[in-house]
Amino acid sequence: NRKVLLASRPVGKPTVNDFKITTDTVEVPDDGEVLLEILYLSLDPYMRGRMSDAKSYAKPIEIGSVMEGGTVARVKTSKHPKFKEGDIVLSHSGWQSYAIAKGDTVRKLDPSVAPISTALGVLGMTGFTAYAGLLTLGKPKPGETVVVAAASGAVGSVVGQIARIKGARAVGIAGGAEKCAFVKKELGFDAVVDHHSANFAAELAEACPQGIDVYFENVGGKVWDAVFPLLNTFARVPVCGLIAQYNQKPGELAGPDRFPATMRDILTKSLTIRGFIQNEFVAQFPEFYQQAAGWIKDGALRYREDVVDGLDAAPEAFMGLLEGKNFGKLLVKVKDA
Ligand code: NDP
Repeated sequence: NRKVLLASRPVGKPTVNDFKITTDTVEVPDDGEVLLEILYLSLDPYMRGRMSDAKSYAKPIEIGSVMEGGTVARVKTSKHPKFKEGDIVLSHSGWQSYAIAKGDTVRKLDPSVAPISTALGVLGMTGFTAYAGLLTLGKPKPGETVVVAAASGAVGSVVGQIARIKGARAVGIAGGAEKCAFVKKELGFDAVVDHHSANFAAELAEACPQGIDVYFENVGGKVWDAVFPLLNTFARVPVCGLIAQYNQKPGELAGPDRFPATMRDILTKSLTIRGFIQNEFVAQFPEFYQQAAGWIKDGALRYREDVVDGLDAAPEAFMGLLEGKNFGKLLVKVKDA
């Protein structure tokens, strides 16, 4: 069994030395368990938080343990009445090629709905994050302007497309010409702005002539600085992620104290700024799944996957995710399906 372990806690950017790749024997399942052969591993920004022991909403990964992560797998051996050999399931088995799981912790997938990899992206956790965060907290109305950063990525791409389905104007922020072209032409956003541009803040203002009614926050940093002055009265800001900060060293978060000025605008513009972790809304998952599967089928919801080959490539691909090197939902193909 090939495994990627957490070797040390990164300070700032993770390096290859923070990971250790090992091989050991494949275990045998007990009653009520299944042995899974992992086909796809999802790589997600939250894993950076789990590598750290700073206090957060979830426990850190222990040093020497398998890196955590969502997976799509094939049942190799079943000792659970609900599963048989060959079933394709969603599990949370981490960065390894085989895993034992309790039957009640895995969900059977229907490969006829969409390619099985989508259970980790557009029809899985990241698509659901976009759906629940945008609709429950952002509440876009027809004609309003919705802005989202990391717009070519797993969450952002879905946010902008759902905003358009709901009749809002979608403005994306992405890094580089290729990603921007994709967001506009393939995903059909109304406008897109490149955050690498020297005139980024001015270009964002130009792309939002009516101001911003919903800002779906994925990034933080200078993107937030450019967005904040453009927020309209009664604007809603679902705070989903702050990826620009994840690799910052302790102490780097401190800057000039802008909190009093921020609070003044929260008051005078009646802003709603609300953080969330997607599992708060888990009861909405069946409704999301049904709607998103329908939108994919009729072409209203498009997605792009960035698939790297083999478990050994996972550390490098993950480090790239935190620097914008991925283009679409980042997945590792652990084994051919
Ligand atoms: P993406 O597929 O969007 O990949 C990450 C993207 O973030 C990169 O491609 C890059 O896009 C952008 N990025 C990376 N570093 C920086 C930086 N320093 N400054 C600006 N942009 C940067 O990832 P996901 O869609 O999976 O995640 C997007 C956000 O959503 C993350 O913040 C993540 O933590 C959050 N999230 C939150 C959840 C929740 O429950 N609250 C659940 C799932 C995700 P580009 O090159 O275009 O800048």
